[in-house]
Amino acid sequence: RALMKRFSIGSRFSAEGRRTVHAVDNVSLTVRRGETLGLVGESGCGKSTLARCLVRLYDITDGKLFFEGEDITGRSLNALRPMRRRLQMVFQDPSASLNPRRRVGDLVAEPLRIHTKLSAAEINRRVAELFDIVGLLPDHVTRYPHEFSGGQRQRVGIARAIALNPDLVVLDEPVSALDVSVQAQIVNLLADLQEKLNLTYIFIAHDLSVVRQVSTRIAVMYLGSVVEEGPAEAVFSTPAHPYSQALISAVPVVETTPGGSRRRILLTGDVPSPLNPPSGCRFHPRCPIAQDRCRTERPEPTAYDGGRKVACHFPTI
Ligand code: SF4
Ligand code: MG
Repeated sequence: RALMKRFSIGSRFSAEGRRTVHAVDNVSLTVRRGETLGLVGESGCGKSTLARCLVRLYDITDGKLFFEGEDITGRSLNALRPMRRRLQMVFQDPSASLNPRRRVGDLVAEPLRIHTKLSAAEINRRVAELFDIVGLLPDHVTRYPHEFSGGQRQRVGIARAIALNPDLVVLDEPVSALDVSVQAQIVNLLADLQEKLNLTYIFIAHDLSVVRQVSTRIAVMYLGSVVEEGPAEAVFSTPAHPYSQALISAVPVVETTPGGSRRRILLTGDVPSPLNPPSGCRFHPRCPIAQDRCRTERPEPTAYDGGRKVACHFPTI
């Protein structure tokens, strides 16, 4: 039975350490157990900020965060601990997220030591099991992160993230820093683990062909808001929001039949600052079909048939 998880972030919240950046605004995401929600959008649109707020690596200074309907905004780190172990994160650059002075076996054991009452022997057994699951060799446990390739380091990051049997794993550009040949191996590993361990993923990436391959549903973000959400194939084949259309038109298509080429929609202008977003529809300065109404009236996310939600006054649906 599918279990629905709903993450809502009301109002605005901030991130980036001491610099306050209102990067995400009124976002609500629903992820079903065992599925992958792909989160896409240009860099700077708030994807990573949203992900980090979901696992509470950033503090929310203004706004609310709900998990399974419960308001967890004001919870202390201690109170969040039982929930924290159910939400884990895999980062883009494993060499930045793994302490270089610790042996990788130790790095994978750390969450087990913090969050469980397992004995040292049990922890060693679990670490050996995790190394096997992610495709690392038993004698790798005594090595240091720098002795590994990028792909192996990401396997360590993944072993750490799944050590506590989480429900949800947020993958923030997990393969963007890797060679193309290694990317496929890691994507396949993630798919295997999802199947075996019934994991739920939020997969953040700017490479849309990877996202299309792995996602059940897609959420397209622009300037801190989700502008379109729906089943991955439907969003990719018939995007309804002008921004999704432009984003998806830029993905090269491998055509097996002749005559299936697509027109590429080029967007002009830079992504405006989320601190000073445009009036009305935030996309209006760059939208090829903007009307007067778009400059003053902000479109609300509206539900359509087929599980699609679009925030646009003139969607193609
Ligand atoms: Fe374009 Fe208007 Fe739709 Fe915004 S609301 S995406 S400006 S058509
Ligand atoms: Mg990012």
